[in-house]
Amino acid sequence: MTQVDYLVIGAGMSGASVAYELAAHGTVAVLEAESAPGYHSTGRSAALYTRNYGPPVVQRINAASHRFFVEPPPGFADQALLRRRGALTVAAPGDEALLDPVLALAGPGNAIERVDAARAVAMASLLRPELVGAAAFEPGVMDMDVAAIHQGYLRGMKRRGATLVCDARVARIERRAGLWHVEAGSHAASARIVVNAAGAWADQVAHLAGVAPVGLVPKRRTAIIVEPPAAHAADLATMPAVDFAGADAYIKPDAGRIMASPGDQSPVAPQDIQPEELDIAMLVDFLERRTHLAVRRIARSWAGLRSFVADSCPVVGFDPLQPDFFWLAGQGGFGIMMAPALSQAATTLIREGRVSRVLADCGVGAEQLSPARLRR
Ligand SMILES: Cc1cc2nc3c(=O)[nH]c(=O)nc-3n(C[C@H](O)[C@H](O)[C@H](O)COP(=O)(O)OP(=O)(O)OC[C@H]3O[C@@H](n4cnc5c(N)ncnc54)[C@H](O)[C@@H]3O)c2cc1C
Repeated sequence: MTQVDYLVIGAGMSGASVAYELAAHGTVAVLEAESAPGYHSTGRSAALYTRNYGPPVVQRINAASHRFFVEPPPGFADQALLRRRGALTVAAPGDEALLDPVLALAGPGNAIERVDAARAVAMASLLRPELVGAAAFEPGVMDMDVAAIHQGYLRGMKRRGATLVCDARVARIERRAGLWHVEAGSHAASARIVVNAAGAWADQVAHLAGVAPVGLVPKRRTAIIVEPPAAHAADLATMPAVDFAGADAYIKPDAGRIMASPGDQSPVAPQDIQPEELDIAMLVDFLERRTHLAVRRIARSWAGLRSFVADSCPVVGFDPLQPDFFWLAGQGGFGIMMAPALSQAATTLIREGRVSRVLADCGVGAEQLSPARLRR
């Protein structure tokens, strides 16, 4: 029987990062249902740091995470966690007004510039020039090394004395005599505080503990990897990610090939989600119309879950009705880039009842993250 101060359920980016932060202050165990951490959403992302993505609260959390990625703690990772990518939002001729909301996000330290069609095509030669009216260019968008970030947290938490148990799906959670008692297969643990970092399964885990749900909705997102045409292969090293204004689809270079997503968000039950043939067929049709890609073979396809509550902001805080049950859920499509700031905020909320200074300085308060906002 493991006995710790903090028991974290789930070893994706959320669970690993909060375990790392908490392990500096007490004993921590992480229970992960799968045989390896990162099997679900964390291992299936597009790996983009896009500060301006998501609702305003999320954008502030993204901004607050930037410093950690650029200057991680000593020994956290052997390589850079961010690499310059840039992003173009491209509007078709006649649709240029769709760029206005993107351009309006520009501010100090947050450059977004309008570029004409010729410059956009020079940056992303895969685009069909006749279908580009204008574009908005965001130089601050970065590729994230998700595996290095996740491993950095997992290694770091172990160095701080935390333990990770895989193949340990939590199936029972009971509160007795002021402690949580948790069973996961052959493993049993007890803790003062449970942190629910179970991704798409967070409402199900809450149910096990007798805690009311926060209304989490997992949504499927599909992605494929395809070969670029030989004539464009050399351009990929410097090509930005491309969003198509008015459509949800996007593409980005990925190790010499192209990753593309239709930007789908179909609500589904939590599961080991797989891509749907129809979503892939529609994406291929879109790519062949809007770019020079001719998709003869799909090198890889996958789907992952992005889990949202009603306001699309993360849920971070103690449950208002169940003492010592802490939520770290609802990371939607931003859970990798938010992880540094959210895990630090979760830790100060758990220990001191307030969000971290860095998040407060960005204008995010505890009430904007609290599960209580979803129960009114
Ligand atoms: C296609 C796609 C593109 C994305 N692109 C980006 C992007 O560019 N940038 C970005 O920042 N984010 C992106 N995201 C979102 C990001 O991947 C997620 O927000 C993030 O990975 C969520 O991490 P998590 O740890 O909360 O969830 P998960 O990684 O799903 O981890 C939850 C873990 O909990 C475990 N678990 C569940 N139930 C139990 C139980 N009962 N007992 C024990 N363990 C349990 C699961 O096995 C799982 O490992 C994208 C997501 C997708 C799908």
